[in-house]
Amino acid sequence: MDGDAGQQGGQAAEPPTLNGGCFCGKACFQAAGPVVMVYNCHCTICQRLHGAPFARFVYFAPGAITPKAGSEEFVGSFRTSETVVRYHCRVCASPLYGEINPKGFECTCCPLTALERGPDGRVLGLEGLKPMGHNYYVHRVADADDDLPKNDALPPGFESLDCGKMYPHC
Ligand SMILES: [Zn+2]
Ligand SMILES: [Zn+2]
Repeated sequence: MDGDAGQQGGQAAEPPTLNGGCFCGKACFQAAGPVVMVYNCHCTICQRLHGAPFARFVYFAPGAITPKAGSEEFVGSFRTSETVVRYHCRVCASPLYGEINPKGFECTCCPLTALERGPDGRVLGLEGLKPMGHNYYVHRVADADDDLPKNDALPPGFESLDCGKMYPHC
């Protein structure tokens, strides 16, 4: 992580910032919109680290997700592959977010389940965060009973997508 606590300008036209955090509440983050895409990941790393058949991720531009003030010391990280660094709460071990930097593709993402919830327990803005498909489906431990695209690895064109170029203001 960088140690840069940059100030964001309060321009009215900017997309909303989403809030998220861990189970115990020590590690909170903010994700500067817009949301670029939403995918389910069935890779074996996500299965093990999330303790679930798959993890649903919300993707943002590079650098869009940062710890909130006071949360930095509770955010731990480790590299899970050559191109992915994952961040988690040092206290409760909840997955927080990740940075992906393969060649030609850069983004940050967080599990949809880490995003802020309303009083009813539902993730805020859930209706606008529909998944676009299943990635690494070849490694699935459970079938997905839906009509979304099922990709053996990443979807076609994913590797060449540059979220930073799509949203240079982020
Ligand atoms: Zn925690
Ligand atoms: Zn994965």
